[in-house]
Amino acid sequence: LREVRFLFYSIGRLDDPARIGENAGMESEWIRWLAKNLGHHPGLKLGIGDDAAILRWQSPADVVVAVDLVADGTDFFLEQIDPRRAGRKSLAINLSDLAAMAAEPIAAVVALLLPREGGMGLARQMYEGLLPLAEEFGVAIAGGDTNSWDGRLVASVTVIGRTHGRAAWTRSGARPGDRLLVTGSLGGSILGKHLDFVPRVAEALALAQAYEVHAAIDVSDGLSLDLSRVASASGCGAVLDLDRIPVSESARSLSEQEPAGPTPLERALEDGEDFELLLAVPPATAATLAAACPLPVALTEIGEFIDAAGLWARWPDGQIKPLAPRGYEHVLK
Ligand SMILES: [Mg+2]
Repeated sequence: LREVRFLFYSIGRLDDPARIGENAGMESEWIRWLAKNLGHHPGLKLGIGDDAAILRWQSPADVVVAVDLVADGTDFFLEQIDPRRAGRKSLAINLSDLAAMAAEPIAAVVALLLPREGGMGLARQMYEGLLPLAEEFGVAIAGGDTNSWDGRLVASVTVIGRTHGRAAWTRSGARPGDRLLVTGSLGGSILGKHLDFVPRVAEALALAQAYEVHAAIDVSDGLSLDLSRVASASGCGAVLDLDRIPVSESARSLSEQEPAGPTPLERALEDGEDFELLLAVPPATAATLAAACPLPVALTEIGEFIDAAGLWARWPDGQIKPLAPRGYEHVLK
């Protein structure tokens, strides 16, 4: 066993010296709440209560680490949703990133920046959403940090995973001729899936164990944009078969609600946060998977990788035309 030390749970000091005593009381109460609610995890040799946590580590395996940051007002609006769903999402998006690497999640550290008013209640609700998901996926909450400010909630979760015998999947391994597969269906996640999706961890581990996968990504920013990232990282191009893309019911009903807006297909191509897996596999593997899919979720072949760089669409009439990668990108000014 190799031991890996990690950050432990600490609570930041308030700037205002007059409020330090008050904060200390809040800290103790919060630590007590955490100690009662975090439970025991076999991968955790030392959990909250020290300067860092210690994980038990199975060797040989690579450590796979991912972090995501979500903010009230950008990724969700707390006045519109139960904060537990936001807490769940803050961990789920990280598990989805580990799934995209075919890594098994082991532990997570959670950093919360809370509004001063009602921060404690909000912290609890975030954990009440996050903890059941952690338990479902066998993830130890190894520690974290909490602080307060005059702004809205910001949550940053870091997950630690490990590879399973085989090397982790990356975005850069697709080769011309590889088939393009996607789990589930796409588009319209804003109707609820962007909060309540199930990260495709079990699917990724099942595929990694028995099938050759050359490259992978989770669809977080939109199919066409995320696919263009895989193609570009792999130094090749990709063609999408437009008539084979699994368009979700949510994409259809959104388009019915807004007839002047994007079509269901456009939503499937461009909407973000479906958190499905996009995979590049050799043709023989695609054929095996098409004959007998080992997953509880649909796995659909939607195109292939080609020599010619860029993103292309094959229309139902067989014509191939360039396709503009579109999706969600954070704006920085
Ligand atoms: Mg990702």
